[in-house]
Order: sequence, then structure tokens, then C-alpha cells
Amino acid sequence: MEGRTHVPQVNEEVCGFCGVCRGACPALASPDLAAGESETMRAALAPGAPAKATDQPPACQAACPIGQDINAYLACLAKGDQAGALEIILRDNPLPSVLGHVCHHPCQQACLSGQFQSPPSIRDLKRFAASAPRPTVEPAQEPVKAQVAVVGSGPAGLAAAWELAKSGATVTVYDAKPVAGGMLAWAIPEFRLPRAALQTDLDYVKAHGVAFELGKALSPRDVEKMRQECDAVVLACGASRAKAAGLPGDDLAGVWLGLDLLRDAALGPAPSLASPVVVVGGGNVALDAARWALRQGAEVTLVYRRDREQMPAYVEEVAAAEAEGMKFRFRAQPVGVEGEGAAAGLKVRATEPGAPGPDGRVVFAPQAGAEEVIPAATVILALGQDSEAASWADGLGLSGLEPGPEGRLANGLYAAGDLVTGPATVVEAMAGGIAAARAILEEVQS
Ligand SMILES: Cc1cc2nc3c(=O)[nH]c(=O)nc-3n(C[C@H](O)[C@H](O)[C@H](O)COP(=O)(O)OP(=O)(O)OC[C@H]3O[C@@H](n4cnc5c(N)ncnc54)[C@H](O)[C@@H]3O)c2cc1C
Repeated sequence: MEGRTHVPQVNEEVCGFCGVCRGACPALASPDLAAGESETMRAALAPGAPAKATDQPPACQAACPIGQDINAYLACLAKGDQAGALEIILRDNPLPSVLGHVCHHPCQQACLSGQFQSPPSIRDLKRFAASAPRPTVEPAQEPVKAQVAVVGSGPAGLAAAWELAKSGATVTVYDAKPVAGGMLAWAIPEFRLPRAALQTDLDYVKAHGVAFELGKALSPRDVEKMRQECDAVVLACGASRAKAAGLPGDDLAGVWLGLDLLRDAALGPAPSLASPVVVVGGGNVALDAARWALRQGAEVTLVYRRDREQMPAYVEEVAAAEAEGMKFRFRAQPVGVEGEGAAAGLKVRATEPGAPGPDGRVVFAPQAGAEEVIPAATVILALGQDSEAASWADGLGLSGLEPGPEGRLANGLYAAGDLVTGPATVVEAMAGGIAAARAILEEVQS
């Protein structure tokens, strides 16, 4: 055996949870995969590992906010059963195409095999499974008699609507924008989330009987009225108020807020950007705006006051932007936009790391006197977002918008997604929507 191959090692701590690597192992090193005692020489040499029998969900599933049965669908894929994998995914997740493209995949980070190798690309495997034809939607066996209004058609609202409609509730989703999908439709750029993929998931939610009323911005007063007419209302309005920079010169022509730029890029009219472009920020919005600008042929520099390791944007997005030609200026804090009538440059001050701040992150403090102007005909400011939680709470006569884990604010009134958590992720917003829907189903059936 020496020199030709190696004796398979079965690590009892980590092996045996999911069938993916075992399914591909020519040694059939795990006894539960072998039909006979030892089908191969290597299997005979390998120490046996019992199939795992535990009450605890595997690490990947425990890390998934919507508790996807990742083992089960990966095992289906390993057997070549794409339709079966999609069926398992759809048990807990109405937006598999979306998540197959943009999920932040905490499952992969949690995968036990990450101790030894790159974990399986679970998100990409989900994307593949989601390309199978959708199964026909069967009507609920014993439909729940309830009417629910959902304010906001982002992932939180869509997931809530789907969970309710699956049980037969009558659901209408309202959105201020002319398109459904929330940030999936008007913030995350098409080059990361193809609109055909989003449409497949939207059609699937609609196939459950969910109705949409788009282009309707609802006020707290509208919501109060709906509470009289419906059994429940779910607020899922997101957190899309871009934080103002408050920099001198940020009102000059050529200065954009990142989220406004992405919205116009998605819904039109498409912005026309003068090069060079400087983007300020280190999160998803900054990266997406920068990569959109690169696609317009602009020269793009991203300015961030900390180091690359501290960027909240996903590592793969940062690497992709770099490969596409984006330049970085780390440890640079913007202090003003320079120009006469229109932006001509961004004045920055060098920063140095210091002690951790109240959030535990190291503070990068600007250094006196170390200023420089980076040439910029366009400046894109992406410094974070806030929600309208306080004004919703005010308008609805609530002391705050801080629901419990199931999203309940008051009788028949629920909230979910970024509106509650602040800017988070698609799958977390979906988990909030599903939790609120389940609580409503319990409330109306009790
Ligand atoms: C540029 C960008 C890139 C991102 N990339 C990723 C990523 O790769 N992966 C990831 O997991 N997450 C990503 N996110 C975060 C993710 O998009 C959000 O966490 C998620 O969309 C929040 O979902 P939501 O349903 O709570 O709110 P939203 O998606 O914001 O949807 C809320 C909807 O409510 C509507 N609304 C608001 N007020 C009203 C009203 N008064 N009446 C009617 N409708 C109203 C809005 O028009 C909006 O369509 C990104 C975010 C941005 C901005």
C-alpha cells in the first residue's frame, strides 16, 4: 500500500455526520457505506467508525439561522439526486436560489471538516440544487383561517408570508418600491444575484397564494387600520436609511450615498459616474458600489479607516474586487470632500490602531497633521444604515421596537428582519420572518 495510497483515517470526533466525503471515498472507509464487511483493502485496513447517532443537530445545521438539514441535502446531491436535495431545502427555505448566491454561509464556517481542509462549498451546492425544477405547490390540508398583512417584501417579509401561506393563511405583502424582494431586488447588484434567480424564488412564494401590492408605502396609521381588518400585521421594513457622513463638501456634485447609488443602478435611471471613483467604507454596500463602478469602466479606490482584516465585507467579495482591479487605501479616515461645485478629491487623515473601543473592536484613531487628498471625481460614501424602528414605534404608540425572539410587539403585531436587528443578513432576516409567522399561527389557532 505504501507509496500508492494511504490508509484512510476515520476520526470519530468529526467523521460520520454527513455523507459527502464518505460518498466520494473509494475506500468506503465508513462501515455504514459498505455493503459487506470490507469491500476494499483500504476499508479492511481502516478503523471502523460508527454512523453518528446523536440528538444534537450537526454543527452546520446548528449554525444555520433557518436550521437547514444540510446533511440530508448534501447526501442527496452526493447520490446524484438533485430534485430530492431541493425538496429537502424547500422544507425550511423558500428562497434557495437567492441563498445559493448570497448567503453568508455560517454552515461552512461551522463545518467540522474545516479543521483539516476547506469545508464543502455548501452555498454553491445549494445553488446547484436550486436549479432543479420547483415541485408543484400543494394546497394546505387543513387551511388556517387567518388574514395577515406583511409590510416589506424583503427576505423577512417573503419568508413570513411563505410560512403563513403554507398553512393556508391569506397573506398580502406590501412594499413601497415598485419591485418585490427588498434589498435582494434593489440593493444587491445583479452581478452577484442574477434577477432570474430572485424571480424563481419570488414565483415560488407567489405559487403558495401570496398576493403582492407594490409601490405602496404604508404609514403607522395604515398599519393601525390593517390591524383592525386583519388577524395580524408583520412589519418587515428593513434598515435602508443610509447614514449621513456629515463631511464638509458631501453636498458637492459627484458625491453619492452607496445605497442610493445601488438603488439607482438597480431600478434606474442608471447613474453616470466620472472617474476616478473613491469609495469610503468596508462593508457590503461599499464593496458592491465599488464593484458596480468598476463595471462602468471607472478607476476605483476603496478607502477604509481600519485594516483589511477588519473589513465587515465578505472575504470573497474583497478578493473578487481586488481581482477586478480595485485599489485599497487602508488606515485612512475621510475628513472632507474637496472641489469647486463638484468633487475633485477626498481629503483623508492617516489612522493608527489603538485600544479596543466599547464594541471590543480596536479603534483606529486619526493622526494629527497626516492629511492627504486622493483625487476623486466621484465619491461614494457607504458608512452604514439605520432602520426606521424609532419612528415606527412612535407612530404605533409603542415604547420601542424591541420584540422577543418570535417578533411579537403587541396582539396581532409582529416585526422581523433588519428593522429589528439593524443591518444583518438575508438568512437571518428570513429566520426572523419565519419565527414571527409561526408565532402568528399559534396566536390565531389558540
Ligand atoms: C448592498 C447590500 C449587499 C448585501 N449583501 C448581502 C449578502 O451578500 N448576503 C447577505 O446575507 N446579506 C446581504 N445584505 C444584507 C441583506 O440584504 C439584508 O440583511 C436583508 O435584505 C434584510 O431583509 P429585510 O427583509 O429585513 O429588509 P429589506 O430587504 O430591506 O426589505 C425591506 C422592504 O421593506 C420596504 N419598506 C420599507 N418601509 C416601507 C413602508 N413604510 N411601506 C411599505 N414598504 C416598506 C422596503 O422598500 C424594502 O423593500 C446586503 C445588503 C446590502 C444593502
